[in-house]
Amino acid sequence: MTNFNFTSLEREELLHVVLKKLEKYYHDTNSLDVSPIINIEEIASSVTKIDFDNPETPRKALLNAIENLQKYSVHPAHPKYFGLFNPRVNFASILSDLITAVFNPQLAAWSHAPFAAEVENFIIKELGKKFGYQPDKIDGVFTTGGAEANLTALLCALNHTFSDFAENGLFGMSKKPILYCSAEAHHSIQKAAKTVGLGYSSVKSIKTDDNLKISVDDLYQEIQKDIKEGYQPLMIIGTAGTTGSGAIDDLVAINKIAKEFDIWFHVDAAYGGAAILNKDLKQHLNGIELSDSITFDAHKWMSVGMGTSIFFTSHRHILSKTFRITTKYMPKDIENLKTEDPYSHSIQWSRRAIGLKLYLSLSIFGWKGYDELIGHQKMIGDYFKQKLIENNWSIKNKSPLPIYCFTDDRFSTNQDFVQTIEQRIIDSGKSWLSVYSFNKIYTLRACITNYSTTKMDIDELILELNKERKDFIERNFIV
Ligand SMILES: *Cc1c(COP(=O)(O)O)cnc(C)c1O
Repeated sequence: MTNFNFTSLEREELLHVVLKKLEKYYHDTNSLDVSPIINIEEIASSVTKIDFDNPETPRKALLNAIENLQKYSVHPAHPKYFGLFNPRVNFASILSDLITAVFNPQLAAWSHAPFAAEVENFIIKELGKKFGYQPDKIDGVFTTGGAEANLTALLCALNHTFSDFAENGLFGMSKKPILYCSAEAHHSIQKAAKTVGLGYSSVKSIKTDDNLKISVDDLYQEIQKDIKEGYQPLMIIGTAGTTGSGAIDDLVAINKIAKEFDIWFHVDAAYGGAAILNKDLKQHLNGIELSDSITFDAHKWMSVGMGTSIFFTSHRHILSKTFRITTKYMPKDIENLKTEDPYSHSIQWSRRAIGLKLYLSLSIFGWKGYDELIGHQKMIGDYFKQKLIENNWSIKNKSPLPIYCFTDDRFSTNQDFVQTIEQRIIDSGKSWLSVYSFNKIYTLRACITNYSTTKMDIDELILELNKERKDFIERNFIV
């Protein structure tokens, strides 16, 4: 039979060859183009040229995959990736993913992977305390991402609000539930509403103010109006760090409204939640401790690999109520222990051990390391801000987080200006940034999302921006 194990000698050699290549990528990331030129035929043929009827040697197959990933990926690990919230993955997390792959802990049943399960419980407790939840009330579950965490929040809110939801689902409701979030909230909220069968029309996007925070007055009025018209306000989502511009909603004010009308208060802190780990930034999350639940993506600002998100709740029993189901085939050996099976907290059943990479990262870098990591990125962000202003760029957003939406005021209504600059910089392979429409002003958007970004990288980006602005003016206007 085919040797699925390889021989011991082969394994050692393959580990050596693969790790050497990976170390080279990790070491030399900044010598690569941040993003590839996309030629779909070329990329597709690099995949399909493999013939499963005539398998490759393991060495050739592995090196081929590494080479193609390097060639045909955007590289968030590059210090000049100023993009969405995709980090450079810290090395402890990388090793942890390898370790997890070897042991492949089965996180459906506690008794199959008790260490991995306790690691996740511990992280949920410790991070839950950082967010200000009372220790004896904290519960939570690791999810694949913020989208699954937001969906989990909606399911908890439904099971909390409608006592027969598990039995009768939407058919048991006499009133249509409504979700409230700002117009700048993440689209995974809409997706969650669609997934559970409530549909898009159950999500009310509330107007935002000049800084793209939810208008608390509009929120209040909409809720009052909906109650009068016979709807059931179900959940308010405050965003702590919007994806577009890093706006943080007024969580204290939202909580007050949620308590007045007895509505589930969820905070989507997928990106911004990590600010809680920094002594200077954490004040901006005031009110998060009052929430019923929180979405937090460690795979954003905590620089661990993709697929590491956490849903927190301050309702000790709501996850079990939402997800527990009894079966004959699941092991029963924990019934007398003071713990719960992970599957009774999660949408997933068989589940990868997600928490280990965060556990090892925290074991090695500590809270202090993360305080510094976030402080460093904020410092680089402040430097970028200062350089933008010195170079006559105008910053439109006011987030305390290191995200900047900026333009040249002469072109604030010219979409072509920002899009041309964005495209030319991306095509050059030197940096990666995006565009965002900020209160109808077309802006470039750059986020300091990589802990290895330095002031020198910022200086280079500023030069690229200035050059593209100059070229745009020369191309479009005779000067
Ligand atoms: C990224 C993000 C999400 C979605 O999280 P994923 O991990 O990509 O699923 C949700 N909300 C906000 C505010 C985000 O920034």
